[in-house]
Amino acid sequence: MSIKHIAVIGAGTMGNGIAQVCALAGIDVQLIDISDQALEKGLATLTGNLERQVRKEQIAEQDKTSALGRISLSTDYATLAQVEMVIEAATENLELKKRILQNIDAVVRPDCIIATNTSSLSITELAAVVKQPERFIGVHFFNPVPMMALVEVIRGLQTADTTHAAAVALAEQVGKSPVTARNSPGFVVNRILCPMINEAIFALQEGLATAKDIDTGMRLGCNHPIGPLALADLIGLDTLLAIMESFQNGFDDPKYRPAQLLKEMVAAGYLGRKSGRGFYTYS
Ligand code: NAD
Repeated sequence: MSIKHIAVIGAGTMGNGIAQVCALAGIDVQLIDISDQALEKGLATLTGNLERQVRKEQIAEQDKTSALGRISLSTDYATLAQVEMVIEAATENLELKKRILQNIDAVVRPDCIIATNTSSLSITELAAVVKQPERFIGVHFFNPVPMMALVEVIRGLQTADTTHAAAVALAEQVGKSPVTARNSPGFVVNRILCPMINEAIFALQEGLATAKDIDTGMRLGCNHPIGPLALADLIGLDTLLAIMESFQNGFDDPKYRPAQLLKEMVAAGYLGRKSGRGFYTYS
């Protein structure tokens, strides 16, 4: 069964990317945010990204026009009444997401699948908020959504097999490759990636090598497209610290302790690209 009508909650970095790939795949998209300003900003980013794809000849001008024609903007949750699936991609905050999920749950049809794009919150805990937790699931897209091929599909304890199958089908419908994970802090990819980056920061802190040499080592020795410290700057050091702290607390295991240098850099406001300085400087 292919999805024809979807809603995306949150028109930020991830939400506008998810809306873009869904619309390009021929799905009608209801995009929701808290203000017209947030919606317009999301649509402007999305339009710019589609225009770039036209310039690069990845899509035709007509594909762009058709995709934009499939996207409706609203601040009103009542517009979700007819959609087959909702993907929640609002700000990463547990209480906020619980409120949003209750608002969604109050208006959607009974067979609607509700999904969240959270990177770090428990799918099982979020599922417990809705009336039919078996119809709830995690669909974790990667940033930037139009470019990244992966979607992690995360089953909560309550998720039904039919819900899982629908989420996998949606990922494939929008041209992504899904992998399935059980609910656990960081799911699979961040669980492996973030401790690797944290280890690179330990190596730097211990003076094993310079930042440039650590990154060159991992690029040329492991064929990574980008070194771990440059990637930390891209993710944001505050985000990385929050993820490592959530692992440390979630697993109660000292192997996930964040490097002291990471904590110091965040305290100094050296957050990576977004602040102009991290392990490298950016102008
Ligand atoms: P963002 O800050 O860019 O966008 C969040 C959007 O949610 C904003 O436009 C905000 O106005 C909107 N919002 C807030 N409250 C709302 C409400 N009540 N109803 C509707 N919209 C509301 O954040 P983002 O980076 O797009 O992250 C969104 C989600 O995706 C988070 O759960 C995050 O963990 C996850 N995620 C982020 C990344 C990433 O690299 N940024 C990657 C994977 C997953």
